[in-house]
Amino acid sequence: MRRFFASLVQWIDSDYSVESPDAIRAQPDGVNLVRCIPFIILHLGCLGVIWVGWSWFAVWTAVALYFLRMFAVTGIFHRYFSHKTYSTSRFGQFLLALWTGTTVQRGPLWWAYHHRHHHQHSDEPEDAHSPHVHGFLWSHIGWITSKRNFPTDYSKVKDLAKFPELVWLNRFDIVVPVLFATGLFGLGRYLEHAAPGLGTSGAQLLVWGFFISTTFLFHGTASINSFTHLWGKRRFNTTDDSRNSFILALVCLGEGWHNNHHRYQSSTRNGFYWWEIDPTYYGLKLLSWTGFIWGLKPVPASIYEEAAQIAHHDTIRRFSTSSVQHEINTLRKVVPTAAAIAIATVNSPEVASQLKKDGPAIHKDVAEQTEHPGTDQQ
Ligand SMILES: [Zn+2]
Ligand SMILES: [Zn+2]
Repeated sequence: MRRFFASLVQWIDSDYSVESPDAIRAQPDGVNLVRCIPFIILHLGCLGVIWVGWSWFAVWTAVALYFLRMFAVTGIFHRYFSHKTYSTSRFGQFLLALWTGTTVQRGPLWWAYHHRHHHQHSDEPEDAHSPHVHGFLWSHIGWITSKRNFPTDYSKVKDLAKFPELVWLNRFDIVVPVLFATGLFGLGRYLEHAAPGLGTSGAQLLVWGFFISTTFLFHGTASINSFTHLWGKRRFNTTDDSRNSFILALVCLGEGWHNNHHRYQSSTRNGFYWWEIDPTYYGLKLLSWTGFIWGLKPVPASIYEEAAQIAHHDTIRRFSTSSVQHEINTLRKVVPTAAAIAIATVNSPEVASQLKKDGPAIHKDVAEQTEHPGTDQQ
């Protein structure tokens, strides 16, 4: 019963617990159903569309909020709080943290702690969301319902934990999502009267802008944990099974270049080449021109050289295993057959007697044949 009430309190205060965070983390994986009720409500809220219907305004709001908040996940949670691939002011950092709050993916310190842990133990038993260790479903959604993954290990994110405003947002990670959802509802109510031509309402914007958009956002983000360690190509021979995927780069604004990222985490860009589409990087580049952020970290020349070497060896290997190997295989089949035909022909009684009579064909004078064209008919 104590644990039941503790889970209820944790809906509001993420750091509240009856046991020490270390003891909770040491427990085996197990779903904390009570703690997950808000997450279940988020999914069930999508069913509200049955009652509120749709309008173009609501649908486009959902789409816009998906991409604006995916940018917050990739450009801020990931490339700023987890890897510090660029710099900003303390106030700028606070604004970025507020933006990530609208994603409903818990606090910046919790997110960064888990992500850094993933890089330290990628695809090892310690990795909380490796599809190779725990299976696809657990890596996609199961791991965030597990009680041992709820506490933030502040000792692993000391660089962020020194800012009380970030710790507060991390601890009370429900505040921004509630304000965001309320704001959407209020906007819908306002537009209902101020712009009735849009055909929207408070409840409709809440369902489309918050529940549907956020549920898609969660699964888009989760696909990086699940799919990008299963699907796609590997450029770099990293110790994990991370992969590069163009499709996931579109869905997740550039995060699909996950193998690149696992090879070199400190770069602001995940798409290392112009053809590796990385909208998050383009957005961050734009922001840097305003002076709001600065110090975007590039991909070092040594990494490009490594990639060029791999591409070079890959070309040679593919050439040898495709065209050359194909020719070798063909020769292996053809030569014994040709040899067998030749031996059989040479050993046949007619050819043997002809050879004895005429000697080897190569010693025959070619002019002999052309001088007496009608010999066969005689
Ligand atoms: Zn990964
Ligand atoms: Zn990362």
